[in-house]
Amino acid sequence: MTTKIIFSKICLEYTCPGSPETAERIGWAVKFLKTKKFTFIKPEPCADDDLLLAHSPAYVKAVKKGEIGDADSPAISGIYDYAKLSAGAAIAAAKNNAFCLMRPPGHHVGINGAALGVTTRGFCYFNNIAIAVKALGKKTLIIDFDGHHGNGTEEIFLGDENVSYLSVHRLGIYPWTGKTSRQNCINFGLPDKSGDGLYVETLKNALLSLDFAKFEQIGVSAGFDTHDGDLASIGLSSKGFSEIGKLIGKLGKPTFFVFEGGYDGETVGKDIYAFLKGFENAD
Ligand SMILES: [Zn+2]
Repeated sequence: MTTKIIFSKICLEYTCPGSPETAERIGWAVKFLKTKKFTFIKPEPCADDDLLLAHSPAYVKAVKKGEIGDADSPAISGIYDYAKLSAGAAIAAAKNNAFCLMRPPGHHVGINGAALGVTTRGFCYFNNIAIAVKALGKKTLIIDFDGHHGNGTEEIFLGDENVSYLSVHRLGIYPWTGKTSRQNCINFGLPDKSGDGLYVETLKNALLSLDFAKFEQIGVSAGFDTHDGDLASIGLSSKGFSEIGKLIGKLGKPTFFVFEGGYDGETVGKDIYAFLKGFENAD
């Protein structure tokens, strides 16, 4: 496989008791992907200033001081540094057209923390993909195929002339946003039993509606919790993720990937592999 994976085992050090956002979900995926001949690259933390590309100084300061916590995203010891490493890994993924396989995830956190009308940050601390897109400063299409709507990413980029956001997600679950499209943010919600066919068809039609000439790169919020039985299940299988990879690969643009959800450790690695195989064999 030619796509490189950005990963540091430091992201496995912290625990969040009772949360489905476990270290094991990535640990198992890494173990599986190491059997598939990927090249792994170790990331560096982003700079403090990079965080300010997507977030307010007050929010960054609050995370640094451990003064922010909610039921989903508690003030875990050292989380500021773990989250900076995850954001730095996303920047490295953007620079190398690679796959960032790190935690904490990011797409639910907005400019000031919890985004667009919800009070929790869905296991997120800093918006990794938003920071990476802003750090590179290129005209970017963000494709978010996580089962939850990326309300934080939408909040950060709403009205941004250089960036479009496209999300296909499950209806009726956290964060209950993304029911309609707004300006440069295009949203499609699906019911829970849609399956591979309807999901892939919806994404395909959504992509057809976009003018790709204006984008210099694609950033992907890669979430695998739509897998059948996972937290935001839309009934997808590994084959569905392979088809999603093919659709994105066919666009023919420089592309990077940032891991978001996917909580069933046994399937996440296989789904990432299926997705990247589809992406690399799109033609
Ligand atoms: Zn999710």
